[in-house]
Amino acid sequence: MSATDKHGYEGYRDPTKSVMKRFGVTVWSQVQAETTRGPFHGLVLPRSETSDADHLVLKLGSGYNVGLRADTITKLTKTGYKQAHYKIPEEEFPSDPSKPSVILLGTGGTIASRLDYRTGAVIPAFSPGELYGSVPELSEICNLQTEKLFGEFSENIGPTHYIALAKRIGEAIAGGADGIVIGHGTDTMHHTAAALSFMVQRPPVPVVMVGSQRSSDRPSSDAARNLIHATWAAGCGSIAEVMVCMFGPTSDRYNLLHRGTRVRKMHSSTRSTFRTLGDVPLAMLQDRELTPIHATWNKRRDDRDVDVHAVFDERVTILYYYPNMQPDLIDAVVDAGYKGIVIAGTGLGHVNRKVYPALERARNAGVSVFMTLQTLWGFVQMHVYETGREILEFGVVPLANMLPEVAYVKLGWALAMHPDDPGAVKDLMTTTLAGEMTEREPHDGYLVFQGGVPEIDELLGRIWS
Ligand code: ASP
Repeated sequence: MSATDKHGYEGYRDPTKSVMKRFGVTVWSQVQAETTRGPFHGLVLPRSETSDADHLVLKLGSGYNVGLRADTITKLTKTGYKQAHYKIPEEEFPSDPSKPSVILLGTGGTIASRLDYRTGAVIPAFSPGELYGSVPELSEICNLQTEKLFGEFSENIGPTHYIALAKRIGEAIAGGADGIVIGHGTDTMHHTAAALSFMVQRPPVPVVMVGSQRSSDRPSSDAARNLIHATWAAGCGSIAEVMVCMFGPTSDRYNLLHRGTRVRKMHSSTRSTFRTLGDVPLAMLQDRELTPIHATWNKRRDDRDVDVHAVFDERVTILYYYPNMQPDLIDAVVDAGYKGIVIAGTGLGHVNRKVYPALERARNAGVSVFMTLQTLWGFVQMHVYETGREILEFGVVPLANMLPEVAYVKLGWALAMHPDDPGAVKDLMTTTLAGEMTEREPHDGYLVFQGGVPEIDELLGRIWS
């Protein structure tokens, strides 16, 4: 059988190779592609381990990759050639005794990532030293010591990482660091921020978590700006709390500092994804100036005192209530040996009547059950409706306006602080330690514009002035 296609080119079993050969195009060629789906202009990437023989993968000018089915390509015109080199040299930080010392702990995520053309995936590849190589402005701010703790996307970060991070932060503080930056994947950054808020209490210096929504090899990457702002907040900022520092508006006009227990990732792809919920952000960062937004925050101190409680009991879960939830789900959790359950309930803190017997069984088995809200804004109020009152009778404890993920993380921590003492766990859960519950929402909390379309920001600025 001939190994040529209908145009006489070899390798018909590999339509992509065949089409490339036909138009004299090789990997790393810049091409203008005419297809039945319209024209595309981009760089031909090497085939990854996971892509098939039917698609030609182009990296577009926007940084996104697109797969063109070979049989839809009518013409390829080579317009250039550009072999990509994404390796960034490791750089050593110059030392300047007049500058603050900051420790950057790398854990992985997009901020430490680049595209791997072998696999076609975004991989956590940058060491913190490489990060400095790509963001030299950091050396103007501080003496930066970098350390790669893990190289994980944040879906793989969990209690063992929280514990290691908390211990390392304690050591860094004792060792004289003026601030700590933690590079982290954005997807679960709010879980880790909450965990560190409970595990590292009253830090004398800022502990700033930072990530990026776009990897550094994309033109629209937010990695450098976020890192510069976070490093400045850690080395020079006056707020000594566990915080998240990310883009405010979608433009790079300013960053926001969010309290670690009130922050949440709210958009899957936009760069201004983090929002403070139930409160206003702590501060705005622009041009190396920190402007507080919140009325109260912990100030930087000169001492080295910090309470590190690096413990976590993994037998804790979060149940997101949905209509028609069945009691056997809660029974299964109790039977599996879980010690704590956080419910994200509807409205003011409700679940259906069907699960009442399971709630009773959970209480009798010594499992601690707490109520939070799916609405994310507002307070659990279980005395308003009959449903709420009934649920309270099964020992479910309301958690005011603590966010569900924060409650989950706090419960894992509280169960480890007080093993086999549900009373003490309840006391700890209902005591505010790091701003996780507030007395009230600020009147403008829900409406406050936490970064957005610059034109609207400007308009609001004019109205307010
Ligand atoms: N999936 C990535 C992570 O959370 C996304 C990011 O870093 O922005 O690790």
